[in-house]
This record gives sequence, structure tokens and C-alpha cells, in this order.
Amino acid sequence: MPSLLIATKNAHKTREIAEILGSNWDISDLNSHPEVVSPDETGTTFQENAEIKALAASRSFPGLVLADDSGLEVDALNGAPGVRSARYAGENATDAENRAQLLRELEAIGARGRDRSARFRCAMVLADEGRVIADFAGAVEGVIVNQGKGEGGFGYDSLFVPEGHCETFGQLPAGVKNLLSHRARALIRARQFLDAVDR
Ligand code: IMP
Repeated sequence: MPSLLIATKNAHKTREIAEILGSNWDISDLNSHPEVVSPDETGTTFQENAEIKALAASRSFPGLVLADDSGLEVDALNGAPGVRSARYAGENATDAENRAQLLRELEAIGARGRDRSARFRCAMVLADEGRVIADFAGAVEGVIVNQGKGEGGFGYDSLFVPEGHCETFGQLPAGVKNLLSHRARALIRARQFLDAVDR
């Protein structure tokens, strides 16, 4: 089975990617490759950061590398938290601290109902032997609720209701999130490409 390194230490991302890609790949992430260093995410777009992560890992891993950079854009906050989603409440902030920060910001500007429109975005970059070989993007539209609901998922999932649904990603079954999420949409394209790669 060909190996695929996911350039992340976020076990939630790795699990979602493994569930969507299926069992044709021997998937690991940076938690089992301490020799692969994680770079600073200095890009100003999801695409730039995904490329930085994919190339950094690919320089020290002899096989295909897939990097995911993703986050939440809230219209009323001019696209914040955006590329700063993981550190919205500060460097090393927890998911709970980031969610609390987001709710405070929306409360502060009095954003309600449809004013809370938002989307998750995901950029994926595939690299091999230190070179980018493909990139893929996905997004899912939705709204931010007033308080966290549901225990599933990670990050901002308990605050985000995807378009066409009444429950947050934290409440919906993982299988539903994995059909319609930003990550799923990028990965469907990545999977078509990977299935065609002759290994
Ligand atoms: P990254 O690891 O730099 O790409 O940061 C991604 C951050 O965006 C995560 O720490 C979460 O806060 C948020 N995020 C990305 N994807 C999701 C998702 O599927 N659900 C909830 N939050 C997400």
C-alpha cells in the first residue's frame, strides 16, 4: 500500500482525511514522524500556508506528502479569524479559547442571525521529493450560532451550522461532516488525483 504523510500534528484532521480517503493509503502524520520539523506558518493565505507545510515535510520525507491549511472566515469580521483561526485568542490558544474569542467579537459588534454568515475554507497541497505536484481547495458556507452546541469534531465545529442543516458540525454525525465539509470537498479532488498517481 502506498504511503501518504499528512503534514499536521492535528489528529482530528488526520482522522477526517483518513476516513474520507478510504483504506487505499497507508496514512500517517507528523505525530509519528518527529524527525520532520513543522515550519512557521508565515503565509497570508490558506494556499500559501499549505504549500509551506507540504514543502517543509516533503524535504525530509521520502514519499507523498499532503498538507491541509484551513480555517473559518466570518463576513461580519471581514474574514477573521481566517489564517489565524488556530491562534485567534493568542499563540498556543486552545480551541475553547478561540471559540470564546469569536463569540465575544461577534457580540461586541452586535452581529445576529444572518449577519453571522461564515465559511470554512481548506487548501490542500500535495508534494513529492520537495516539489509541489498539485493543489486543491474546498469551502462550505454556513452561519455562526450564539453558543457552542455539540461535542463532536474540533476547533469551531460546535459554533458552525452548515448551509442546508439546522445543527452544528459539533452535533451532526462525523459521517455527515465528512460528506460536506471544506476538507471533504478539497479531498474529493485530491482523491481523484491520487487514484490516478501510479505508485
Ligand atoms: P491550521 O492547522 O493552521 O490549518 O489551523 C486550522 C484551524 O482552523 C484549526 O485549529 C481550527 O481552529 C480551524 N479549523 C480548520 N478546520 C476546521 C474544521 O473542520 N472544524 C473546525 N475548525 C476547523
